[in-house]
Amino acid sequence: MQVTGTAQHEAWQRRDLPPVEQLRPDLWSIPVPIPHNPLRYVSVYALALAGGGIGLLDAGWDSDAGWEALTAGLDRLGAAPTDVRGVLVTHLHFDHLGLAGRIRETSGAWIAMHPADASVVRRMNGRTAAAAAADEVDFLIHLGADPDEARADADDAEAMEPFMRMAAADRLLDDGDLADLPGWQMRALHTPGHTPGHLCFAEERTGLLFSGDHVLPRISPNISTTADGLPDPLRSYLSSLTAVRDLAPTEVLPAHEWRFDGLASRVDELKAHHEHRLDELLQALRTHPNSTPWQLAAYLTWSRPWSAYQRRMRIFAVTETDAHLRLLGSRGLAAASDGPVPTWTAAAR
Ligand SMILES: [Zn+2]
Repeated sequence: MQVTGTAQHEAWQRRDLPPVEQLRPDLWSIPVPIPHNPLRYVSVYALALAGGGIGLLDAGWDSDAGWEALTAGLDRLGAAPTDVRGVLVTHLHFDHLGLAGRIRETSGAWIAMHPADASVVRRMNGRTAAAAAADEVDFLIHLGADPDEARADADDAEAMEPFMRMAAADRLLDDGDLADLPGWQMRALHTPGHTPGHLCFAEERTGLLFSGDHVLPRISPNISTTADGLPDPLRSYLSSLTAVRDLAPTEVLPAHEWRFDGLASRVDELKAHHEHRLDELLQALRTHPNSTPWQLAAYLTWSRPWSAYQRRMRIFAVTETDAHLRLLGSRGLAAASDGPVPTWTAAAR
């Protein structure tokens, strides 16, 4: 894998936001900051459309600072939010979909996403934050959390409120559909795993791959179970990696970190990372049979001591462990007991 977004990579090293960059005559990347998040920014891609107007790929985290960054970025290419005709959304997470609603209010732009993520958004918008917060606590208890710890880790209703009012889709894009962006041949690739409806976009005129969070150059995207998400998200993710591995794009334009070349080798690294994790988990299961995901997470190696994990980080670690357990289960290497708090045991060798 080779870094092609060298300005982005250098800014990362300086712990700075990268510049707005013109990538092709009609294509720019605009970093939109994500508050209090180690990823620091999402790269919003702005596409000049044939016949005028702008298309956006992802919108950025919804905050005033994010809106200012997006507006200033568009200004650099002589455009404004009112020029946006449509927003393609790689997936429903707040750093990608967040500002789409404000863009639509300003310009009348359509918002397009995959039906699976559109229905998650619809479901969330139809519920109260209190109900969603209670569901998360129940899910953590089902994974083996002590009820008090689950309540301490999960966001309360107030913190969840902004995520319950995200923009609904105006248009749906299924696998293989071409987005309605004049002058561009932007083909949607359904790549479930990180979310049920994650989309990459293969642009057929330039040969670019917009990889969203599916393939990032440095980190592996979080693949976790959720109360109502994919039944076996890691299995989905690994087959979505296979689906893009041999596309041989001219360059990969991810939603975070930096642009790069060498998709196949990056995909191989990500797969190897998860196989290594699966091996480690299987070893832990053999040593500690009849364990919950919550217990097993503590036996795995993490980037910091497990005792330092709390709140959102611990939830990610446990739900990621659960995703790996479910794949061990569907591969026949482990099995879960019945009951409200299932425990896992390795299959007999
Ligand atoms: Zn993201």
